[in-house]
Amino acid sequence: MRKNDLFKLTIHEANELLKSREISSVELTRSCLDRIEQVDSKVKALITVTGETALKQAELADERIARGNARLLTGIPAIIKDNMCTKGIRTTCSSKMLEKFVPPYNATVISKLNDAGMVLIGKSNMDEYAMGSSTENSAFFTTHNPWDLECVPGGSSGGSAAGVAAGEALFALGSDTGGSIRQPAGFCNVTGLKPTYGRVSRYGLVAFASSLDQIGPFTKDALDCALVMNVISGHDPCDSTSVPEPVPDYTKGLAGDLKGMKIGIPREYFVEGMQSGVESTMRAAIKKLSELGAEIDLDVSLPSTRLALAVYYIIAPSEASANLARYDGSKYGFSYKDTDSMWEAMEKTKQFGFGAEVKRRIMLGTYALSAGYYDAYYLKAQKVRTLIRREFDAAFKKYDALVTPTSPTVPFKIGEKADNPVQMYLSDVCTLPINIAGVPAISIPAGFSAGLPVGMQIIGKPFSEPTLFKISHAFQQATDWHRQTAGL
Ligand code: GLN
Repeated sequence: MRKNDLFKLTIHEANELLKSREISSVELTRSCLDRIEQVDSKVKALITVTGETALKQAELADERIARGNARLLTGIPAIIKDNMCTKGIRTTCSSKMLEKFVPPYNATVISKLNDAGMVLIGKSNMDEYAMGSSTENSAFFTTHNPWDLECVPGGSSGGSAAGVAAGEALFALGSDTGGSIRQPAGFCNVTGLKPTYGRVSRYGLVAFASSLDQIGPFTKDALDCALVMNVISGHDPCDSTSVPEPVPDYTKGLAGDLKGMKIGIPREYFVEGMQSGVESTMRAAIKKLSELGAEIDLDVSLPSTRLALAVYYIIAPSEASANLARYDGSKYGFSYKDTDSMWEAMEKTKQFGFGAEVKRRIMLGTYALSAGYYDAYYLKAQKVRTLIRREFDAAFKKYDALVTPTSPTVPFKIGEKADNPVQMYLSDVCTLPINIAGVPAISIPAGFSAGLPVGMQIIGKPFSEPTLFKISHAFQQATDWHRQTAGL
């Protein structure tokens, strides 16, 4: 392989070549940095490129490999969504509020990746505070889909997804509150996992809706996804919602067919308004799963699914309104100074620091939590949340996994839904219920419709990531959708 093509490698391929010393991490990192130089002015995946420190980390990684001390991700270039704190490196959350914020500490996932020897190559663009589905809500610029530069990459982790799809790094981290890893993974033809709630520490992740947020990987295939999960998962005393469940070796047990596996296809996810190209691609992918030996049940119903969108848009804004109260100009981040009045300073800090969507969510949440409305909205939404979770529990008594489209449409044009928040909210109908239930789900490339990627979502019961990887791996051994790359 030509040295300047190294960015095309998967993590597992790069690991082999690094171990045998056929390539160095410096060469691999240079290849990604050159790629960024070549394509990022078009894709705009990154807010910050950390080229110099990346090359230093790569040199250290090479020394470590030479000492025989390498771990799974030693020397592998990665992109991190700009809502995860990186010590000494600006972490903006794509907001004016945090435009100049340089965290004094690392998020737990960053410490874990650093210990493993990752090379941090850049911080990626996102919807402000992870609120959105297209990365158009960034206060700085919009990211473009590598498959069609006029289309959105999905959101909110659009920069991470587009960055991996464009070959700017071998993997990325994103966060997923209602679909923000899976939907952009689907739109950009990469593999993206939202782990079980509590599987990965949220310490150092800028909070959006704490009971729904979860960090997860974007990779080129399921095996790489398993590799990253091996490093970032596990209990963290700094996150009281992280679960003290042992971390298995996710790379084990992937081989083999799907004989004996029961997969349900819930009909509510084939929603009205779904594009016919998405539906036919999904039907073909489901047929492939059956050819691989899985027993498919097309007669599955999860009737509460239709309530998930409403529940999400009560719970997520409510939690956001509480979480975002801290940005009042007195602690960190943007602070309006042009007044002697404390109240005016707070008001103007929020007025100028937050964008329109963030303000909309804060207002929605404040309203839902206010004294007269709490029972009617917030409490009711929590009750329905329990119903949705129970429906999943019941389904997983019968099925090993459920399979749905990741999104009802292929990537849409930049600007197409920007003025219609409700239309935008609808692009997450298939992913929101999963966060509400706290279960894990992965999106993998399932094919193309009119030249644009279609994602397949595989949902499992809590801590069933190994099952999701097994199904994904079997599918990826039998298809080559995930190997297709955008012609940039
Ligand atoms: N698009 C959804 C929202 O706007 C989900 C975002 C996310 O998962 N962070 O809230």
